[in-house]
Amino acid sequence: PATTTITSTIPNEKLLDGLLASGFDEKSCLSRYQSYLYRKASPHKPSAYLISKLRNYEDLHRKCGPRTEYYNRTMRRIIRDRHINVKTTCKYIIWTAANGLGNRIVSMSAAFLYAVLTDRVLLVEFWHDMTDLFCEPFLNSSWEVPKSFHSLGHHKKIETYESLLKNDRGNTSRESWPSILHLNLQHGSNDHDKLFHCDHSQALLHKIPALILRTDQYFVPSLFMIPSFKQELNKMFPEKDTVLHHLGHYLFHPSNEAWGLITRFYQAYLAKADEKIGIQVRVLSTEESRTRNLMKEVLDCTLKNKLLPELDTKKSVDSSLKNKTLKSVLVASLIPDYAEYLRTMYWMKPTVTGEIIGVYQPSHEGEQKSGDNKHNMKAWAEIYLLSLCDTLVTSSQSTFGYVAQSLGGLKPWILYKSLGEKDPPLCQRAFSMEPCFHFPPKYDCTAKTKLDIGSVFPSMRFCEDINTGLKLV
Ligand code: GDP
Repeated sequence: PATTTITSTIPNEKLLDGLLASGFDEKSCLSRYQSYLYRKASPHKPSAYLISKLRNYEDLHRKCGPRTEYYNRTMRRIIRDRHINVKTTCKYIIWTAANGLGNRIVSMSAAFLYAVLTDRVLLVEFWHDMTDLFCEPFLNSSWEVPKSFHSLGHHKKIETYESLLKNDRGNTSRESWPSILHLNLQHGSNDHDKLFHCDHSQALLHKIPALILRTDQYFVPSLFMIPSFKQELNKMFPEKDTVLHHLGHYLFHPSNEAWGLITRFYQAYLAKADEKIGIQVRVLSTEESRTRNLMKEVLDCTLKNKLLPELDTKKSVDSSLKNKTLKSVLVASLIPDYAEYLRTMYWMKPTVTGEIIGVYQPSHEGEQKSGDNKHNMKAWAEIYLLSLCDTLVTSSQSTFGYVAQSLGGLKPWILYKSLGEKDPPLCQRAFSMEPCFHFPPKYDCTAKTKLDIGSVFPSMRFCEDINTGLKLV
């Protein structure tokens, strides 16, 4: 068969050690098979089991994906029999967007892993602001939910997961299950703990053919808490802190337009550097910009940890003729101030090490803009460029930085947000390259008590940047 021939001609490194399927048209998505030219080979190899799960998922997606006979038939039944027990061959989870691009990428990744674990097909709803950022991830199919799906919502009210739980708690014996359900896992005002991580809830959700998911969270740690998924996950990810590293490389290939932004910038400013350091400065609130001196924090962190060299204030010129090393600094921020300061600083004086420092910032958008495609395109390019650096400094609690670190396989230095201590550390090295799940469950489904994370889940720890968040190690 054609695929076998192609496999034998594509080197393993190009397919990221078997993570990517062969057989895609290369020109329509240059990044898919070119990314390996821009990154060092990852020391973390995908497990054979993960690879086989992905190939099986691709078969399922091809069979049930948009515009297939199965898709049309299932959607017709879902619309017609909204509240009758519907058993379908194909089941779906439809991801919908919330919040910024970093949040979207981490939550789509979690949704994909959930889909793989539950034999559902992941479909994504991209509005104008997200079109053409990514290539299609699944061979010979599409992951975008067809426009006709939207009309579904206008027919009748769709039941929610909360009402399903409420009914269940009330012990009302149900004769019929909804065929479609809103599953909102976004951290809510009143209910952080939606029992999604309990086997019992999973058994309820299992009965429902289509779930419309809304979340901005990286809820992967929840999946590791679910007893019925645990064994599968351990086989898929023998190294637990590589979940987004692998899923990110598998799912998110920059479109040709985004790849143009990435490669032109890379070739102009980063390719020739002996070392590349990425600094992401995210100001999350006006309160933060008023109370923190982020420029000082960046300097303290990078100079004291020798990520960047000190200035030689006594000299105005470095007279040594020895071969100079070039360090390129990529700054990502909504404002130009930090890069401007660093650039001027390294222009005015030589460095004590003799290193030459170049400072570059792709864009300064001023503010987060929602619903803007070009704005998201730049954000995506910058996340990806950060991930191509050798060392990262990121801002605490930022999913923008999380995606960059996981794609890059990097443990960043996190600019520490003081929690009121007298001498807070300048910055802290992350202990894992995984994102932090900001609002994890707090309830132990088996013991029916408050969850004691440390003793129940040895592969999870509280995050460096939010002490109530959880991450895999
Ligand atoms: P988080 O809020 O830091 O967790 O990250 P998100 O990506 O979810 O939301 C922040 C959004 O603000 C991004 O998606 C961008 O739209 C914008 N943004 C924030 N920082 C930057 C930056 O350094 N560069 C660019 N281009 N956009 C940014």
